[in-house]
Amino acid sequence: MAAISLRNVVKRYGKGRHELQVLHGIDAEVSDREFVVIVGPSGCGKSTLLRMVAGLEEISGGEIAIGGRVVNELEPAERDIAMVFQNYALYPHMSVFDNMAYGLKIRKLPVAEIRARVDKAAAILELGHLLERKPRQLSGGQRQRVAMGRAIVRQPQVFLFDEPLSNLDAKLRAQTRIEIQKLHAELGITSLFVTHDQVEAMTLAQRMIVMNAGRMEQFGTPEEVYHRPASTFVASFIGSPP
Ligand code: ADP
Ligand code: MG
Repeated sequence: MAAISLRNVVKRYGKGRHELQVLHGIDAEVSDREFVVIVGPSGCGKSTLLRMVAGLEEISGGEIAIGGRVVNELEPAERDIAMVFQNYALYPHMSVFDNMAYGLKIRKLPVAEIRARVDKAAAILELGHLLERKPRQLSGGQRQRVAMGRAIVRQPQVFLFDEPLSNLDAKLRAQTRIEIQKLHAELGITSLFVTHDQVEAMTLAQRMIVMNAGRMEQFGTPEEVYHRPASTFVASFIGSPP
């Protein structure tokens, strides 16, 4: 069974003559534990697609299933997902521990369970010695890891990443990319990762969905996409220098 199924997914914004169709029937099946990158130029509909999987945008047509369950009508909190955004915000007055534990406290998990989950995530992200610190006492890279820790402790079935690296400087971007790869290797959580950056897509993806103007141009491994582009768009988009 596919971890994520997109079946003829359509999105329209606006009504009447202001209507704008931004997704024209996306079909894709993401396997369990797979890391799939959605790549394409700005405005092609990547964030819209990801936000629909997250339940942050209504679906205009088609069907989305997570772990075999159709989620079209489910609220974000009812979907077994965690999302990492480009502009992560930590609570400045809370410690690292409390930042990571916050979502679990809201869900009223037992204190021991919260402690165990935060400790496990902190160990994976090498944050164990920083749990009592406040965000302002952390480096940019450490803050980024706390933001990821917050997603990990939820133990979701699916991770959704919307350009989490694009506001970082080159060094931190490279570090965080490695961190995300390590995380996926250790936890094996099915991931959808959105980026407009071809190089980032090629390095991170097990398979990649190449999008253009609301359509899927190709879904394949980086090798397939690079060596056997399905269209002239894919050839020029992937072949062009970063
Ligand atoms: P990407 O993430 O690939 O840059 P988006 O999914 O953000 O693309 O946007 C796809 C298209 O949908 C763009 O033309 C954008 O202007 C439009 N769009 C995005 N969000 C909205 C919205 N809330 N209302 C109307 N149009 C939107
Ligand atoms: Mg976007």
